[in-house]
Amino acid sequence: MKIQTNYSLKTHHTFGFNIKAKLFARLKNLSDLKKIDLNQKILILGGGSNLVFTKDFDGLVLQNSLSYIKIKKDTPQSVTVEFGSGVCWDKVCAWATRNKLYGIENLSGIPGTIGAAPIQNIGAYGQELKDSFYKLSYFDLKTKKIHILTKKDCHFGYRDSVFKSTLKSHAYIVSVTLRLSKIKKLNLNYPDLVSAFGNKQPTLSKLRKTILAIRASKLPDWKQQGNAGSFFKNPIISQDHYQSLSKSYPDLKSYPDPHGVKINAGYLIEKSGFKGYKLNQVGVSDKHALILVNHGDGDPQDLLTLVQKIIDTVYSNFTITLVPEVNFY
Ligand code: FAD
Ligand code: NAP
Repeated sequence: MKIQTNYSLKTHHTFGFNIKAKLFARLKNLSDLKKIDLNQKILILGGGSNLVFTKDFDGLVLQNSLSYIKIKKDTPQSVTVEFGSGVCWDKVCAWATRNKLYGIENLSGIPGTIGAAPIQNIGAYGQELKDSFYKLSYFDLKTKKIHILTKKDCHFGYRDSVFKSTLKSHAYIVSVTLRLSKIKKLNLNYPDLVSAFGNKQPTLSKLRKTILAIRASKLPDWKQQGNAGSFFKNPIISQDHYQSLSKSYPDLKSYPDPHGVKINAGYLIEKSGFKGYKLNQVGVSDKHALILVNHGDGDPQDLLTLVQKIIDTVYSNFTITLVPEVNFY
C-alpha cells in the first residue's frame, strides 16, 4: 500500500473542490491497516458523494477499496449476501436486479459505496437501506477491534444512524450484509413512480431503468457540475407548525413522520428565492433547489457563506432551521 503526500482530492469527491490531503492511501485489504499509524487524524473516504471539504485535510485520507461479494445464505424466500464496504452502491443494485432480488431497486443510482450507505441510512423513492439491511462489521479505529452490529444496534432513522452519533468518526465499516427478497413486492407509491407506471406492475429491471432515468432528468450530473446531492435534510416539524405555515403556503406538502410531519427542504429554499442563485463560483442548482453546486472553480469559503445565508433566510421565512445532510471536513 502506497502512502502519498500532498495529494489532490479534487477527483475524489463529487463537489470537486480543489483540495489536498496531507497523506492519502488506498486500502484494498484490511490487513493493510497494520501498516498504518492509526493514532493520527484519519478520514475514511468512500465515493466522496456526501461530504464537502472546506479546507485542505491535515491528516490521512484512507480511500476504502475493500471489494468482494459473498453469498452467505440462499433460501426460497431470500438471499443473504455480504459485500466488502468499498463496493460501489449502484453495482450492488445492478447485481440485485440481474439476480431478480428485491428490496433495493428504488435506491438505484445513488452514488458512493455500500460502506457509507448505513451511515445516513440512504433512502430514495420510498425505500431505505434499513429495509434490506441484515448486519455489518466495523473496525474501531480507537480500540483497533472488529465489531458486528445488527439492524437494531445501528439505530437507523431518517437519514440517520448510530454512526452519526456515538460511533461518529471512529468506526470504519468494513463489510455490509443485506438480506434481499426473492418475492416480488415493489414500492411504487412515490409521485414520479405513479406518473411512470399508473396501476401497472413493471419488471424489476424496468423499475431500475425508470428510476435511473428519472434521476438523470431531475438531478444535476455531478460529473458535469460538482454537487453532493441533497445538501440539507428534509425537516420534520410539528403538525401545528405545518398548519400555520400552510395558511401562507397552501401548496406546501407534508408527509407523515413518527415525530410530526416531514416537509420538503427544496420547497423552502426555492420559495426563499435561491433556486439558480450564484455566489461567485458556487450556487444553488437551477434544476433542483435542494442541491448546491460548484460551477467549476468554487471556493469552500463561499459555499459556507451561502449555506449560512440559506439557513438564515429560510429561518426568517418559515421559522425552520435547515440542517445540512452532507458532512463537512
Ligand atoms: P463519502 O461521501 O465518501 O463519505 C460520507 C461519510 O461517510 C464521511 O463522513 C465518511 O468518512 C464516511 N464513510 C464513508 N465510508 C465509510 C466507511 N466504510 N466506514 C465508515 N465511515 C465511512 N443519498 C441518499 O440517501 N439518497 C439519494 O437518493 C442520494 N442521491 C444522491 C445524488 C447525488 C447526485 C449525490 C452526489 C449524492 C446523493 N446522495 C444520496 C448522498 C450520497 O450518495 C450517499 O450518502 C452515499 O451513501 C455516500 O457514499 P460515499 O461512499 O460517497 O460516502
Ligand atoms: P421528489 O419526488 O420531488 O419529492 C420531494 C420531497 O418530498 C422528497 O424529498 C421526498 O422525501 C418527499 N416525498 C415525496 N413524495 C413522498 C411520499 N409519497 N412519501 C414521503 N415523502 C415523499 O424528490 P426528488 O428531489 O426528486 O428526489 C427523489 C428521491 O431521491 C427522494 O426520495 C430523495 O430523498 C432522493 N434523493 C436524495 C438525495 C440525497 O442526496 N439525499 C439526492 C437526490 C435524490 P424523501 O427525501 O424523504 O424521500
